[in-house]
Amino acid sequence: MDGITRRDIVRSGLVLGASIAGAGIILGGCGTTSSAQRRRPLPDAPVYDRPAPDVVSHKPGWLDEWRRQRAGQGPVQGVIPRSAWTRQGPIVSRADPMGGINRITVHHDGMTPFTATSDAAASRRIEAIRAAHVNGNGWADIGYHYVIDPSGRVWEGRPLSLQGAHAGGENNRNNLGIVVLGNYDDQRPTNESIASLDNFVAAQMQRYRIPVSRVYTHQELKPTACPGRNLQAYMERTRSRGGTMARA
Ligand SMILES: [Zn+2]
Repeated sequence: MDGITRRDIVRSGLVLGASIAGAGIILGGCGTTSSAQRRRPLPDAPVYDRPAPDVVSHKPGWLDEWRRQRAGQGPVQGVIPRSAWTRQGPIVSRADPMGGINRITVHHDGMTPFTATSDAAASRRIEAIRAAHVNGNGWADIGYHYVIDPSGRVWEGRPLSLQGAHAGGENNRNNLGIVVLGNYDDQRPTNESIASLDNFVAAQMQRYRIPVSRVYTHQELKPTACPGRNLQAYMERTRSRGGTMARA
């Protein structure tokens, strides 16, 4: 690994994986915004955590274990399974295993404002994000684990057994990614999406024993407008004393 600089790794799209982890090189999206990222019109995850197909850090047999778990698990209760919005599975060779969850990060999709209430409109939007993340960014799947729509429905995104691609590099480790469809610089979140976000995040906090101090927004992990000023303001309120997430 001698001679490989951070810049080289960024340019080649490698992520921290088995082949470089041993070299002690720390890659992170935190605190950086590349020019390529600024030029890119589509959702908010940075280009430099694009996994290279040959960079997969995992223990032997993790994929079989993941399949076994999924087989018995079914969709999370109250969550619309991904089969409702896409026929595509994740490209697991591009992903790292999650290996446990100890923090949560909330996003918006950052595209045009979105207020549609139909299943069809939400599923089209989620599929568009997945296609951009997979075909545009070269990622394994949609970057987020869960998606909340303006009606408050929760949709399954990337399988929980796979590390997400939503917070940049190292910030993705053990980090549950939740996106609220829409652009909360340009619109206000609906009451339904807020209620659902509160309930759902609170349930995940209890499920994984995550304190409110480890529930983040994207911009708290790296410089970005995500999740938009209106959703950011809401997140600050709900996590403060007396807020729903603060009481979870
Ligand atoms: Zn984000």
